[in-house]
Parts: sequence; structure tokens; C-alpha cells
Amino acid sequence: MSKYVIFLGAAGSGKGTQAQVLKTQLDLIHLSTGDLLRQAMKDKSDLGLKAQSFVDSGNLVPDDLIIELVKTQLLSSNALEHGFILDGFPRTLAQAEALDVMLSDLSISLSAVVLFDLTLEDTVDRIVGRRVCSHCQFVYHINSIGDSTDCSNCGSKDSLVHRPDDTKEKVMHRYDVFKSQTEPLINYYKHHLYTLDAAQSPNSITTELSANVF
Ligand code: AMP
Repeated sequence: MSKYVIFLGAAGSGKGTQAQVLKTQLDLIHLSTGDLLRQAMKDKSDLGLKAQSFVDSGNLVPDDLIIELVKTQLLSSNALEHGFILDGFPRTLAQAEALDVMLSDLSISLSAVVLFDLTLEDTVDRIVGRRVCSHCQFVYHINSIGDSTDCSNCGSKDSLVHRPDDTKEKVMHRYDVFKSQTEPLINYYKHHLYTLDAAQSPNSITTELSANVF
């Protein structure tokens, strides 16, 4: 049966890493609003130009832009058939309410909302050492790859980058934004919520999610 799952959590809590693994294992649609915005900014599309200053400063992009983006993506994907992981959306109550309408229009019921629970200290440590492939978005940490800039996932050379919004100051600000604007969703989704300890190893988390959510 297809699963329709939201991943909720601060930057660096492992949402993207798990989504990439589970999407391949389970043939799900992975919809990351952060990845879509970065692509739009790279393409200098209308959305990208409007979003740039918000992303650069670690603030949230206005709800109307994000809701339109997700609506377009959900309608043009095979989400109903394959199931989905929404990674980084919704991040505000207004986005959650808009999502309810979209899902109801598509006759989809949420399967679960997973909260990736991680302290500020761990968040900063992970993000400052994070490197991301600019081609396939695969995520690495310098603790395991050292100085390498090649992506072993897609084979691209010199493609691993340190995102400009992944500095310590910006991560601390993004954590505050998460606490003030996204944490209220924990209560909104209390009937669907599955909380996991995001400080565990990626493999343990995949095992836990496979056993209890997917
Ligand atoms: P992420 O890759 O999920 O950490 O997102 C990077 C940045 O994109 C965030 O700091 C926000 O500026 C923006 N962003 C991503 N998703 C959303 C969203 N659902 N609502 C508003 N802004 C978002």
C-alpha cells in the first residue's frame, strides 16, 4: 500500500538522507522544497529570484510561493500511485492547512508525520560539516569523506559543495526559525506523529522507519 509521509525536523536532522535511501528502496516520490528552491535559484527562474534573499538569510520563503510550488509538483507527479515523502514541507501552520486541502482534493490520507528530534548542538555539528552533491543532492559529512569533493553516489567529479546557508550563524538562526514557526506543527499533527531520536546512525534510523512507518 502506498505511504504518504511528512518528514519534520530542523536542518541537519537527517530528513534528506533518509528520504534519499527510502525513495530508492520503496520507489516513492521524494519532494524536497529546499532542493526545488535551490534548483529554481540556479536556473534564475521567477520563483528562484523571489526566493533567493529568504534562503540566503535562513528565513522561510513566503507561504504563497511555497504552497504553489508544492501544488504544482504534487499534481504533476505520480504521488497518488507511488506514495510520497514530503521533506521540509510543511514548515508553517498555513502550509499545513493548504496541504490538507491539496490532499483532500487528491483523496489522499496522510500515513504518518515523522519528527526527527535533534539538539541544537548536534544540528550545528552536522550542518557545518555537511557537504552536498550539486548534481544529485546526495548528502555527506566531512567526518566520513575528509577533503574529497567527488560524489560516490552519482559519480560526478568535484561536485560536493558546502551550502552557503550551512554556516554556524545561519544554522543557529534556521534552528530558531524551526522552533518558532515549524514546531507548532507537532501539535497540529499529534494524531499522526512518530518521533524518532535523530542522533542515531543513519542505518539505525532507516531500520526503525522501515519497521514502524513504511
Ligand atoms: P532545506 O534544504 O530544507 O534546509 O531548506 C533550505 C531553505 O529553503 C530554508 O532555510 C528556507 O529558506 C527555504 N525553504 C525550504 N522549504 C521551505 C518551506 N516549506 N517554507 C518556506 N521556506 C522553505
